[in-house]
Amino acid sequence: MTETPPPRRARAEIDLGALRANVRTLRARVAPHVRIMAVVKADAYGHGAVRCARAALEAGADWLGTATPHEALALRAAGITDVPVMCWLWTPGDPWDRGIEAGLDMSVSGMWALREVVAAARATGKSARVQLKADTGLGRNGCQPADWPELVGEALRAEAEGLLKVTGLWSHLACADEPHHPSIAAQLDVFRSMLDYAEKAGVEPEVRHIANSPATLTLPEAHFDLVRPGIAVYGISPGPELGTSAELGLRPVMSLKAGVALVKQVPAGHGVSYGHHYVTGTETTLGLVPVGYADGVPRHASGRGPVLVGDTVRTIAGRVAMDQFVLDLGGETPEPGTEAVLFGPGDRGEPTAEDWAVAADTIAYEIVTRIGARVPRVYLGE
Ligand SMILES: *Cc1c(COP(=O)(O)O)cnc(C)c1O
Repeated sequence: MTETPPPRRARAEIDLGALRANVRTLRARVAPHVRIMAVVKADAYGHGAVRCARAALEAGADWLGTATPHEALALRAAGITDVPVMCWLWTPGDPWDRGIEAGLDMSVSGMWALREVVAAARATGKSARVQLKADTGLGRNGCQPADWPELVGEALRAEAEGLLKVTGLWSHLACADEPHHPSIAAQLDVFRSMLDYAEKAGVEPEVRHIANSPATLTLPEAHFDLVRPGIAVYGISPGPELGTSAELGLRPVMSLKAGVALVKQVPAGHGVSYGHHYVTGTETTLGLVPVGYADGVPRHASGRGPVLVGDTVRTIAGRVAMDQFVLDLGGETPEPGTEAVLFGPGDRGEPTAEDWAVAADTIAYEIVTRIGARVPRVYLGE
């Protein structure tokens, strides 16, 4: 995009005061020695990585975490140079050398990655900060228990040569959002034994960690030296089984708003939007909301997504199109430009991202993360 779009069409308000309060709430939930890594991957779940990272640090976060090395390097390039930044999703050929120069904590899950980071350490003449990831049962990234001795042994050999320092041992949980799921205790057992193996072999990690937001909120035995909350930093409950954001003491950070672009009277029996999946039952008024699936409004929420206009929550009439959707305003005639609130914290009667997740058969993580680049982020509380 070449121009910053006007925020009247649509805007995502990002309440940095709420974000800071969420970080302080998380801080109060963990023991004083436990460090907090604010996860700011995927542009801080759609909220804007650099501003959210700064606000999280102001509120007491100690580390930042990203998925890709490019996300982590962008934080360094923005001047965030005095805190540890970890990134965990590497692909062969990624810039390990730049990661070393930037002092990133780089996750290694297997031998190909260890070989690439060691080669980059030799080439740059600098020691790499490496965190070894264990697959304790998630079955995604991470080193299987059977392959752990080889990975730990090779990492220690490189450490002895001064090529790297193993700064962390870590893993990730599969079902932390389902309290008491049997896999949780099983993963913690495997994690403890993989830690024990590595530490007996001579690894002296600065941090050991496995907890995401749900584990930070509900599982103190999973906190170890550091927790890695993502979604909770943005004020959203990690899942319905854990309670609402309000019950967890969290406040949603993003509000998605648009200005109604047209209000008009139509007769009964009028089809609305592509496919005519909605037909007016009586003479009524329609309001056009100028955001669509290109802006991250899920097409799957056609006929279901909730939107507050005035004092009334309306349901999307018919299909969500690329750039717009329609509301049946039931005869009301708000002025064009009137604010339509798709979601927000929920305390003024507006829907929440969690309500949209229900309407679109997904999770609130996906709702906020997919808000498109065409929607300007407007920061409050900077
Ligand atoms: C995304 C992510 C997190 C944060 O998860 P939330 O459920 O958003 O708290 C933590 N650790 C890893 C490895 C992740 O990929």
